[in-house]
Amino acid sequence: MLAVFSYVGIQRENCAVGEDVKKLKQRLPLLDYLRQQSWTARPIALGPEFVGLCPLHPETRPSFYVNARKNLFYCHGCGQGGDLIRFVQLSRHLSFRQSLAYLDQQSALPTDSVLEQAATFYQQQLDRYPEALRYLQQRGLRDPALIKELRIGYAPGGSLRRHLAAQGYSFDLLQRLGVLNSQGHDAFYRRVIFPCCQGGRVVNLYGRSIAAAFAHRFLPGSKGGLFAWESVRQFFTVILVEGLFDLAVLWQVGFRHATCSLGTHLNVEQFQQLCDRPRTVYLTFDVDANGSGQQASQQLAQRLCAQGIATRRVLLPNGHDPNSFFVQGGDAGQFQALLEAAQS
Ligand SMILES: [Zn+2]
Repeated sequence: MLAVFSYVGIQRENCAVGEDVKKLKQRLPLLDYLRQQSWTARPIALGPEFVGLCPLHPETRPSFYVNARKNLFYCHGCGQGGDLIRFVQLSRHLSFRQSLAYLDQQSALPTDSVLEQAATFYQQQLDRYPEALRYLQQRGLRDPALIKELRIGYAPGGSLRRHLAAQGYSFDLLQRLGVLNSQGHDAFYRRVIFPCCQGGRVVNLYGRSIAAAFAHRFLPGSKGGLFAWESVRQFFTVILVEGLFDLAVLWQVGFRHATCSLGTHLNVEQFQQLCDRPRTVYLTFDVDANGSGQQASQQLAQRLCAQGIATRRVLLPNGHDPNSFFVQGGDAGQFQALLEAAQS
């Protein structure tokens, strides 16, 4: 409790700081910064205070307190305390001005760690909701090892906010990252979640509604590169599909050289990835009634050819995508026959 009183004097000092500093501290809350620096802490009861080992002096018993609401720290061991800028001055031996410049660079959103935590949380929920497992079954996904490998999870709605807040992430940050909506509720509600990773980092989350409305959703920001490109790029022959459920059923029956563009429109990075070495790309987009999948496939084939990439257009039966092909009884042999019949 002593910590609470110690904050008072420090806070008064804060009133004098300028508008820019105030904004910077809003953009990058102290606790978020400390977590980025791998500071581990536990919450004290249900309040806004956290305690952990002091990053400013050697110790074995935690005496470094952070009040997330006040955005201040205080250490009972070394007696240091203050705001984010004070912490940077002390920990990096910088002047006030240098600290501001340093923090300005650091204040890009800590997207990785939040999305990583959210993905892990959703993954833990999957087994607890029969409706989610039922949905995976319906989409032909049966292999528990693959479900685990793809880190598929479930967002029941209404529980992520509590989980992340308990770990000290600010409401404001979660809202800016889009995991909470403008009303402050979980953005994903009753959705199967696939984390989109790049270089081992979660860069976005894809949520497929298990109900009818608004089937596909991403968080704001880039969907990243091609799905699982780190493992697929080694292949000289690549199968490109639109959706993650297409990819999942293909991987399940052994077509591990399938990747996914998360829609028919490839972003610049995804396009460049396909062109990063000579290869043959099997374009396996949906064969839908309005022909949009096939039109996109034709245009992409032309663009890839212009870069020296060989393409084949795989023609699924009418009205099918790779997922529905397998769900409705198609097997690996039949799909292989489609690949072999694909036209350039
Ligand atoms: Zn200390």
